[in-house]
Amino acid sequence: MKFNELNLSQEIIEAVDELGFAEMTEIQQQSIPLLLEGRDVIGRSNTGTGKTAAFGIPAVESITEADRGKVTVLILCPTRELAMQAHEEIRKFARYKRCVKATAVYGGASMERQIMELKRGTNIVIGTPGRVMDHIRRRTLKLHDLRTVILDEADEMLNMGFREDIESILSEAPEERQTVLFSATMPSEILAITKKYQTDPVQIKIKSAQKTVELIDQYYFEVAMGRKTDALRLLIAAYSPASAMVFCNTKRMVDELTEALINSGIRAAGLHGDMKQAQRTAVMNAFKAKSTNILVATDVAARGIDVSGIDAVFNYDLPQDNEYYIHRIGRTGRAGKAGTAYTLITGKRQYFDLQAIARYTKAEIREMPLPDRSDITAMKKESLAAEIAGIEERGDENVYEILDKLADMGIDPREAAARLISRRLHSELEGLPEFSASRPLKKGRRDGAKTVKVDINIGRSKRIAPNFILGALVDATGMSGKDFGKIDIYDDHTTVEVPESEYDYIIESTNPMKINGHQVEVKLYKGGREKSGGKQVYSERRGRPDMKRSAYGSRNRSEVFKDYTPDRRKRTKKRH
Ligand code: ADP
Ligand code: MG
Repeated sequence: MKFNELNLSQEIIEAVDELGFAEMTEIQQQSIPLLLEGRDVIGRSNTGTGKTAAFGIPAVESITEADRGKVTVLILCPTRELAMQAHEEIRKFARYKRCVKATAVYGGASMERQIMELKRGTNIVIGTPGRVMDHIRRRTLKLHDLRTVILDEADEMLNMGFREDIESILSEAPEERQTVLFSATMPSEILAITKKYQTDPVQIKIKSAQKTVELIDQYYFEVAMGRKTDALRLLIAAYSPASAMVFCNTKRMVDELTEALINSGIRAAGLHGDMKQAQRTAVMNAFKAKSTNILVATDVAARGIDVSGIDAVFNYDLPQDNEYYIHRIGRTGRAGKAGTAYTLITGKRQYFDLQAIARYTKAEIREMPLPDRSDITAMKKESLAAEIAGIEERGDENVYEILDKLADMGIDPREAAARLISRRLHSELEGLPEFSASRPLKKGRRDGAKTVKVDINIGRSKRIAPNFILGALVDATGMSGKDFGKIDIYDDHTTVEVPESEYDYIIESTNPMKINGHQVEVKLYKGGREKSGGKQVYSERRGRPDMKRSAYGSRNRSEVFKDYTPDRRKRTKKRH
């Protein structure tokens, strides 16, 4: 269904047309007619499905000449960026409807300017709950003319602690009003708000969760402890995305990672809630203009951010919430375009968490080995060739003069070009982290992987046999029996050989742990206890730990990249 099939004014149809929106998205198709009628609506649909237009178009449409100077629509958004973004989009819808004024109010920006704009008279106010409350208290924003209140990303606003602000805003708004709520999830708190503040709402639920995600190729890389930053540098070098987002779970990690990427010559910038508004705006603008290629962000700062043409999303940290995974990877593959999402994991725990995400999202997240030098060289050759082929202007006279001069020196043009290209190729490959020695869970760990011993404070005196120990460990960690090595049982304690790379995870997941009904403690074995703690009474040589797990495909790297490279080629070409 197209926008012009709705009963919308010519001014809006024209504006929407100009934005290049041909067909309506599902949520738009279902909610716009109801909103135009004035109904209360609860809308649930995934990120990237065009919710801003779903509520923004009816909002703009509802305003007439008679509303001059009256605030009739209030839109609440969880973050400054989202408020700014919704404001921008709404202004575009109102482009030909001159009587409509829209104003954004959010924290971290000049209060005076917002007050001035509000005083000058506006119809649609888009803001964060905190700042909106501020203006209400100062009486610079009055709600008595309000006809519509819209809560965008309501669940996120509650997560961010805006519940009180939202409730006081809703109770101060005129009772006769339209209340619209959009949310990705419907927790009970949202239902409570709905019940209390909406009248006979229509529920719209669009089950397009997978649709957005289906267009996104999803891969994960297993990296050794402490090497995620190097792995990310390598991946950025290999795929050279023109525009990509990297997600971290903490502000501090955003800062540290951004600094590390910048130091290795990558055009990266960080985005999180502790930054000043002016700084955040500058970062977003540079990212939109693609002068910053890599945006490193926290979930909250990036929520709902809509930048077109993001090639890839990297999960540096695993998201703390399954829904976040969908939100994150939904930054790429916007509006029906393909995208790629890469997740970095370390250790078994993260491996299992990722499997849980895959089950939840019903997505296929495939393992991919980190590209090595020869993979990267091959990819760079492709992208350099594409880049040079894509240069449209011809070389100017001066350049041909240089070539003539070189020819006099016995360097023909082919050789000259080769020297320049080779310098460029080498500079791009220079200083890349090496991974061959530490590539985990692949060939090599089985024989020669480093192991450590853990000590469990239970032994023969409690009638413990090795299979008890092994069973409890497998149970607690989810690892396979083959992952554990030699087990030595003494009178009052037991030592078990474990892969060093999994040590932290094993300690974490085995405390607490019970063996044969006894609560035990698992610690790093520091040695020497045999002498004081009783003689060794049992030893089982189980060979070296075997970390190869069946979850990993048997295909080797070159096979994987054979499949993968043609796709990259297409994408690289498109970009240049
Ligand atoms: P959501 O709030 O659901 O995450 P947005 O409102 O941010 O999604 O919209 C995502 C992107 O899709 C924006 O770039 C928007 O301009 C674009 N968009 C919205 N509706 C349409 C449409 N009908 N056709 C094409 N693009 C659209
Ligand atoms: Mg949105």
